Amino acid sequence: MPEDARRTELASALVAVRARIEAAVAACGRPDTPTLVVVTKRFPASDVEQLERLGVRDVGENKAQELAEKFADLPCRRELTVHFIGQLQTNKAALVAGLADVVHSVDRSKLARALDRHRPEGQAPLDVLVQVSLDGAPGRGGVPLAGLAALADEVAGLAHLRLRGLMAVAPLDEEPDRAFARLREAADGIRRDHPGATWISAGMSGDLEAAVRHGATHLRVGTAILGSRSSLG
Ligand SMILES: *Cc1c(COP(=O)(O)O)cnc(C)c1O
Repeated sequence: MPEDARRTELASALVAVRARIEAAVAACGRPDTPTLVVVTKRFPASDVEQLERLGVRDVGENKAQELAEKFADLPCRRELTVHFIGQLQTNKAALVAGLADVVHSVDRSKLARALDRHRPEGQAPLDVLVQVSLDGAPGRGGVPLAGLAALADEVAGLAHLRLRGLMAVAPLDEEPDRAFARLREAADGIRRDHPGATWISAGMSGDLEAAVRHGATHLRVGTAILGSRSSLG
């Protein structure tokens, strides 16, 4: 697609998603608007640059290798806050700790310690969200609610990480409103012990309105802005 056509497409999709968010905010009477993290996974660096020119400042990636390829030499990197949102193997923690500004998907002690160890000296502490598994099912990442407090305590104690809050993906077989209500309850509990942990990352293209209703501070939206590239997996 020619660059201008892609730019127009992205611009109008952004307007539509921002309108959805504003409508959801107004409908529940929230005083604040959540941060939109545009998930650019599986789309090229040229899209990231277009989005930056359109005013996007927060972008998300879910694979360490792709993060490195796309962002290590990106001219507009310094204008962006880069969020890592995917499941992360401990042996790729060094890559992510050096390139990301925020990691949403910390779900085990070993990963937290690896990110802490590999955060380069001279960079600000890495902002970290603990990913919660709302149904306790293995496979999609996240610590079960029963293990959440201990992991949050551990992250908060690591010098090169900063605990900012919680992240979750709504289970496939549950109403997002019910799932996000549990996430909010968990987030309230964590905030009692860690007053700085105020972020709730929840809501994607299909369920962002429910996430807004339940206090999400960060929405992770891919398909509704960039389109779908399901053929690429
Ligand atoms: C891909 C992805 C998203 C974005 O999902 P869409 O349905 O494309 O908006 C959000 N969160 C995570 C963890 C993802 O991997």
